[in-house]
Amino acid sequence: FMVDDCIFCKIIAGDIPSSKVYEDEEVIAFLDISQVTPGHTLVVPKKHARNLLEMDEMATAQLFARVSKVAKKVATATQAKGMNIISNMEEVSGQTVFHTHIHIIPRYSDQDELAISFTEHEPNFDQLAVLAEKIQNS
Ligand code: 5GP
Ligand code: ZN
Repeated sequence: FMVDDCIFCKIIAGDIPSSKVYEDEEVIAFLDISQVTPGHTLVVPKKHARNLLEMDEMATAQLFARVSKVAKKVATATQAKGMNIISNMEEVSGQTVFHTHIHIIPRYSDQDELAISFTEHEPNFDQLAVLAEKIQNS
């Protein structure tokens, strides 16, 4: 993979500017250029990976330790009423930048531009049992 082609690698390298909110050896966090809500922040590992599914548990654990830290900083700074934390993986989920990033999206109202809804279904317990076993064994 050519790091030259990756917008977030360029931000990490300082080749293009960003509104940085946090940085350490392993991670950088900056404001999303398109603010879904004020304070919408991306937490990004410095080591390039396509998305979370391509990272090992330790790399993900280190990333999420920073997500915890940055989410609290964003919450304090924005005085938001809550937040959503999301990571898209692959096109089907809406991933458009193929360098792992965690969205921290402060919420001010249930009318915010972000709307996450889960369609409710009647539980099918046989299906749940089959799926749970399949996942356990994977
Ligand atoms: P995805 O759709 O892959 O989960 O999210 C990619 C996010 O990166 C989008 O919300 C988009 O606004 C943001 N983004 C894309 N290019 C840039 C950029 O050059 N700078 C910043 N700060 N954010 C970017
Ligand atoms: Zn990259």
